[in-house]
Amino acid sequence: MDYFFTEDQMALQELVRQIADEKIRPVAAKLDREGTFPWDIVKVFAESGLYGAIIPEEYGGTGKGIVELAIISEELAKACAGVTLAVAASALGTFPIVIGGNDEQKRRYLPDLAEGKFLAAFCLTEPDAGSDAGAIRTRATRVGDEYILNGNKIFITNGGVAHIYTVIAVTDPAKGSRGVSAFIVQDDYPGFKIGKEEDKMGIRASATCEIVFDDCHVPAANLLGREGEGFSIAMKTLDKSRPGVAAQALGIAQGAFDLALDYARKRVQFGQPLVGHQAIQFMLADMATQIEAARALLYAAARMVDAGAKNIAQPSAMCKLMASDVAMKVTTDAVQIFGGYGYMRDYPIEKYMRDAKITQIYEGTNQIQRMVIARTLIREAASKG
Ligand SMILES: Cc1cc2nc3c(=O)[nH]c(=O)nc-3n(C[C@H](O)[C@H](O)[C@H](O)COP(=O)(O)OP(=O)(O)OC[C@H]3O[C@@H](n4cnc5c(N)ncnc54)[C@H](O)[C@@H]3O)c2cc1C
Repeated sequence: MDYFFTEDQMALQELVRQIADEKIRPVAAKLDREGTFPWDIVKVFAESGLYGAIIPEEYGGTGKGIVELAIISEELAKACAGVTLAVAASALGTFPIVIGGNDEQKRRYLPDLAEGKFLAAFCLTEPDAGSDAGAIRTRATRVGDEYILNGNKIFITNGGVAHIYTVIAVTDPAKGSRGVSAFIVQDDYPGFKIGKEEDKMGIRASATCEIVFDDCHVPAANLLGREGEGFSIAMKTLDKSRPGVAAQALGIAQGAFDLALDYARKRVQFGQPLVGHQAIQFMLADMATQIEAARALLYAAARMVDAGAKNIAQPSAMCKLMASDVAMKVTTDAVQIFGGYGYMRDYPIEKYMRDAKITQIYEGTNQIQRMVIARTLIREAASKG
């Protein structure tokens, strides 16, 4: 189907496709096996300007938007969903600065992030606060012209490889989610520590670890917005970044589908290629249709965000929900088409199924997406009386 991308968007798609084919595909299995972070590929991303997509031109970015971020994530994830996060999770960590930063903070941090000189990460989740993000306990206490942070954040993507961390912490426990604030924290601040590194089922080329704040000294000038605005900045961040997860899921689904179709054309059983069997044809037809439906919803939602639509929580949640469920279904069916060979690590397909699972979990599980969608539906219905 035609999504009527502009010439610039098509050029970006072609550039990223080429990077994915030449630099990522040949090493994807090795990175997955060894669980190594791909610094040499990050260098290529930086040189190609991929880190600037969501950063305004006046702060050194290309000032594009969510459609471009989605194009980048989709194309990269066709080759490797883990490597995709070196760009996508940095965008996630950068959004709070773009959304809540003042001019000085933006001038200080965004140009380096746009260049890919440093990576960013986003720190919300804690051991006892996952879906229930309002239950975070990391404390930020104002002392003179600094905040002192104490607590731990877990499962942080780009943890340990990023230099800039946007951190959500409690400044006034009496005020609930209105007592939460957002900070820019550098990894060289005193009291910033890297904790447990995770050994994951999928997206193994991405770095995931615990971040510990042990009397971490953060300049008061690094508070994003005002005290108490942190929860709102975090939610606005997720509204903007969820289409990126949808794009990653879509890329995984498309990558798995392409491999399954190719395999089904070559594998002969009962005297004919698998594609000659109607049961396989119908599976392929359903997979392709589900992928296209997810893609249509993603790019519609991404365009709404870029157009500055007011209520983006629902379309953003919908595209993430749909694309990640499609990714799980399509990759499972793709393994089925490969049969027993698909279950073996010698073949590339099982990695897609392992990688797909995370897209139903992070940036809000799909149960949470359904809650976001339902809440909007009920609110809209109530407003109509
Ligand atoms: C690989 C990886 C990378 C991540 N990267 C980051 C990152 O960069 N930054 C960051 O801040 N976080 C990150 N996360 C955290 C991620 O966002 C959380 O894991 C996720 O939000 C779920 O939280 P939880 O793991 O605590 O699960 P829980 O909240 O404990 O949920 C467990 C199950 O219960 C369900 N559930 C919970 N509450 C409800 C409810 N009210 N109704 C119905 N069902 C419910 C959930 O859907 C889930 O199925 C990452 C996680 C992983 C695994």
